[in-house]
Amino acid sequence: MMRRILTLALDTPLDNEFDYRWNAEDSTHPLPEVGQLALVPFGRREVMGLIVAVKDDSDVDANKLRDVIAIRSQLGPLSPAWIALCRFAADYYQRPLGEVALPCVPKNLRTDNTTSLERALKKLAAAATAEPPPVPRPELNTEQRAAVEAITADPGFCAHLLHGVTGSGKTEVYLHAPERVIERERTQGRVAQVLILVPEINLTPQLEANVRARFPHLMVATLHSQLAEGERLRHWIAAHQGKAAIVLGTRLAVLASMPDLKLIIIDEEHDPSYKQQEGLRYSARDLAIWRARQLGLPVVLGSATPSIESWQHAGSGRYRKLVLRQRAAARAQLPRVGLIDMEVNKALDGLSPPLVAAVRARLERGEQSLLFLNRRGYAPVMHCDACGWISNCRRCTAFMVLHKPERRLRCHHCSLELRIPVSCPTCGNVDLQPLGRGTQRVEEHVQVLFPGARVLRIDADSTRRKGSAQAAFDAVHRGEVDILLGTQMVAKGHDFQRLTLVGAINPDSALFSQDYRAGERLFAQLMQVAGRAGRAGIEEGTPPSEVLIQTRYRQHPLYRALLAHDYEGFAQATLAERRAAGLPPFVYQALLRAEARQLQAALDFLQQARTLMPHEGITINDPVPMTITRVAGIERAQLLLECASRAQLQAFLKPWMQALRALKSRLRWSLEVDPLDI
Ligand code: ADP
Ligand code: ZN
Ligand code: ZN
Repeated sequence: MMRRILTLALDTPLDNEFDYRWNAEDSTHPLPEVGQLALVPFGRREVMGLIVAVKDDSDVDANKLRDVIAIRSQLGPLSPAWIALCRFAADYYQRPLGEVALPCVPKNLRTDNTTSLERALKKLAAAATAEPPPVPRPELNTEQRAAVEAITADPGFCAHLLHGVTGSGKTEVYLHAPERVIERERTQGRVAQVLILVPEINLTPQLEANVRARFPHLMVATLHSQLAEGERLRHWIAAHQGKAAIVLGTRLAVLASMPDLKLIIIDEEHDPSYKQQEGLRYSARDLAIWRARQLGLPVVLGSATPSIESWQHAGSGRYRKLVLRQRAAARAQLPRVGLIDMEVNKALDGLSPPLVAAVRARLERGEQSLLFLNRRGYAPVMHCDACGWISNCRRCTAFMVLHKPERRLRCHHCSLELRIPVSCPTCGNVDLQPLGRGTQRVEEHVQVLFPGARVLRIDADSTRRKGSAQAAFDAVHRGEVDILLGTQMVAKGHDFQRLTLVGAINPDSALFSQDYRAGERLFAQLMQVAGRAGRAGIEEGTPPSEVLIQTRYRQHPLYRALLAHDYEGFAQATLAERRAAGLPPFVYQALLRAEARQLQAALDFLQQARTLMPHEGITINDPVPMTITRVAGIERAQLLLECASRAQLQAFLKPWMQALRALKSRLRWSLEVDPLDI
């Protein structure tokens, strides 16, 4: 009797792979292959696993081996290259392979039930393709053409950093390069797939519309977390079967199975949302670069404000720099940036007289204004003047935020909600004051200041319902809004044709943050939001678009660089600071976090972790409480590891994680490699 052993990766935190018996005689099934999915018993459940090896013998006792229940054979196997990508991610981020690979596979494929799979396959087989399009495309300018040339000249690995100011026409490069690559492969009788990554799909609907319009004859699949399960399955299979020529998705799409991948594009490569903040804390950008190198294909990292890491690589020659210096649309100019000195201008409810005057001028001309304030809610805290009470969250080291329209105090960390107290909980004073301001408060004030104006607020609160963000942006595009007010949600890839003024209300708060990346992030946000202004070609004679920044620190180098639209200067200065301070990208970091009811227990665990193994060449700092120490009643602490060599850090992490797991601590802990927030 021929028996074969299948080694499976399963979605469990146990860092093992598991052997099962495949009984060839009982089945008419051909021998299973590596990369296929197999249903197996695991404990008392049945789970879907990924076959990573097929062999004759197992180290496991024969009478302990269990039988495979079924093989998912309707689909071709996942490729060795794809498994290698998952294995790399698992190794690098110190997670078991199964926890990386299986969540990439749509839920419907991981169950016993095959009806949804059959339905999806039928739908895909019936999908028709249209004729190639007669879509008008703009003539590329010299810089755009050079970029497309550089990207498509050589099919081999190269990381291109596409540094283009806002409005420089990066999108056209993202559309032309795939077109070229797909056409080149087609003439050689091959299929090509292109992966385009975007930070948040619902904030960049224009790119998706552009891609679909430009490639109506090709299948475009989208992959992001908001797809319904059926859709996700269909799009995933379209990518996996090579049917989708273009896959457009958020960070999770970097792990899509794409057998004919020939080009990867990462839009807004600096965006923090490429980093997953829970579970497998991966950087989609970094994985995309690894994947491009593994497969030997070009990858494009586009941004107006590249991440400091990427800029460093471009400087050292590891990445190739491509530059778009000019705005692309006819007569479109970069906006003029000005600072409003808040030391001399008294702001009433957040808006200084010069900013109010600038908004009024736009209203009179029938143009749009955008007010940017990166803080939602009405006020970040409530306060009693009489006794000093403030609205602390009882479960977190954080304030309860006042949400006036909803008449609630809300904790943004644990989601606790309370009615707004009518009087002070400690002294009974009925005159409680809001302190500071968020978007709701500014909205209220703007409505009072400009009674006839149509004001629209866009933030996470106003766009909770599905589709409401899209509806809000559409209203702005149709010209139904005079004053748009919002958080960073309004900063992303929108082209508002009538928008000629951007006001940043209180950016200073980020200048003195403990987070060493706060400056880089603020600069990128301000550049991006400023980039919303003056994108359309204006008529001759009208004044140029304007960006006004309210600040108490007019001399701050960040603002000086912003005035001059000088990303390069800012990046150079930031790199010099990081080098001097021994911060990334000049060191590599990993962060071990622990959570417990008692802070001391978390700190003790980290202290134990610290002394678990010799760690020559690796700096392990003292365990410290996290900045927001308590969330929902759980105390949190962290341990920062630093090393000048990525390889040396990796070599330490693997055995260290094994030793940590062997402690079998009941405390919750997790490791993050290349952490963004410290
Ligand atoms: P970015 O993504 O770099 O901020 P976009 O790709 O949104 O900029 O382009 C800005 C504007 O310039 C868009 O309205 C686009 O249609 C236009 N545009 C891009 N390339 C060209 C070109 N070669 N000629 C004319 N207009 C262009
Ligand atoms: Zn009081
Ligand atoms: Zn809370």
